[in-house]
Order: sequence, then C-alpha cells, then structure tokens
Amino acid sequence: MEAVKDIELTLDFYDGPVDPDWCPGCGDFGVLNAMKRAALKLELLPHELMFVSGIGCSSNLPGFIHSYGVHSLHGRAVPIATGIKLANPDLNVVITGGDGDGYGIGMGHFIHAMRRNLDLTYVVMDNQIYGLTTGQASPTTMKEVRTKTTPRGNVELPINPLALAIVSGATYVARGFSGNTRQLADLFAGAIAHKGFALVDVFSPCVTFNRVNTYAWFKQRVYDLADEEAYDPGDAEAALGKAFEWGDRIPLGLIYQSEQPTYGDSEPVLERGAPVSQPLGIESSLFEEMLAETM
Ligand code: SF4
Repeated sequence: MEAVKDIELTLDFYDGPVDPDWCPGCGDFGVLNAMKRAALKLELLPHELMFVSGIGCSSNLPGFIHSYGVHSLHGRAVPIATGIKLANPDLNVVITGGDGDGYGIGMGHFIHAMRRNLDLTYVVMDNQIYGLTTGQASPTTMKEVRTKTTPRGNVELPINPLALAIVSGATYVARGFSGNTRQLADLFAGAIAHKGFALVDVFSPCVTFNRVNTYAWFKQRVYDLADEEAYDPGDAEAALGKAFEWGDRIPLGLIYQSEQPTYGDSEPVLERGAPVSQPLGIESSLFEEMLAETM
C-alpha cells in the first residue's frame, strides 16, 4: 500500500460520491466537514475507514464521504459495526447517527458496546429532535419543549448521554458542537486514534424542526474545557460532574478518557488473528473429528 500512501491528501479528497441532501444550515454539515478534517489529520485513506449508520437525516453521512460505508437499519448500526470491527480490526470503524437512532431504538446496543469497550468510534449528531420524521420529541429533547408529539411541552426528562457513557464503560467521552468544526475535528481524530469505545456527542442543530436549541442558543452557553487548566479527563468523578453541567454553562471538549483492555484484546477467538485473514472453512482433521462425533 506504499504507493497508495503517496497520494497527496486534501480535504476534497474525502468528498463522497453524492452531495449532502441536508437542509441548508443543518448542523450535520459541520460534522461532515470536521470528520474529513480528522481523516486528513490522521492521514487515513478511504480503505482504512468504515462508516456505519442507522436511519435518520444524519445517518445519510456514509454516502457523503469517500470511504467504505454501510447505511443500515434503524438503531442497528452498533451491532453491525461490532461485527465489522471484530472481523477486520485494522479498519477504523466509525458509527454515525442521530439521538433518536442511537439513544432511542438503539439504546440497548449502545450500552452493551460500551461495557465491552469495543474499539469503535460513535458520533451522535444530537439535535434533540426527530428530524427525518419532521419534528417529534426524541430521547434528548429537553423538558417542557413543545414538539409535534409534545404540543403542551415535553414531560419527560432527557437522557444524559455523557454520564451514561462514563458509567457504562466507554473509555473516551467527548462533546462537540458543529458550530466549532476545528475543535470537533480534534475530538474526532482523538476518538478514532483512541483504543476502546469512544463517544462523541455533537450538538448539531436541526434548523428546520428544533426552534429552541439553535446555534445562538448553544453559542450563549458552551465553553471549552481545554480552557480549564486544572481539569483532568482521567478523573471519572470530575468527568461525571462535567457531564451533569447544563443550563447557563455547558462544557465542550474531552470529558473523560482512560486506557482499558478492549473486547478484542480479551476475546480468545481473535487470538489467531483477524478473521478476515483466516482461511475459509475448517481444517480437514477438525472436520473428521466433528463428523465422527455425529455418526
Ligand atoms: Fe438537518 Fe433537521 Fe433538515 Fe434533518 S430536518 S436535514 S436534521 S435541519
């Protein structure tokens, strides 16, 4: 692959086969831009990158970037990404989707992937609404916000994805904002380079259906954790405190990181190497043994 590595990489190199079909101003444009910057920063080639998504506006992302990609089923991106990663650990597998897809129907998969510390990156474009289906309350819609399904105001508490990730075993937990693509690119690059399960929850405003959590709403509240010199992302208790900060001040940046064995490090089946590199079928001696057992 040395010859391939000689390609001069530019941001445009990562443009996908089709242009994004998102509404003008959608926060997902910033996420896509930051992801291309991260790939460029890490000098990743398309065959080294795999994007897996579920269903939703943001889940169209794999079609918009030059890489391998799977646009899968609603809420099922995590198990598909798990299979891909375990079969071919050399691939950088990035899951992309929305809050409805990942924190709603996909919630069970999300938690189990974190407790296994699978070596995956999960980017959730969190717009606090169901955008593709035109504006229903999602698992991260704030209390009292009016949506098509909550015309008198949402009565449910929103999920706290960062706190959930920290207590469930994720080893890289970050929050970004599509209004700050430079920081977001650094967070994505850090997540992809991290060995273990990385969640990057991104404030990615839905300019069409969420009239509360707008760019202006976030810009008034967010601050960069990197400006707090004393903050240590290795301190889980401090990280939980940051995960619960909401209201007038909301932190962006790397909230938590730790080094732990991954599922792939501990799974005996993988001791012989990547399944994609193994010969197909079974050895004849094993076949004879199995046949004898059943006769
Ligand atoms: Fe983005 Fe919302 Fe438009 Fe979907 S409906 S593309 S989330 S702005």
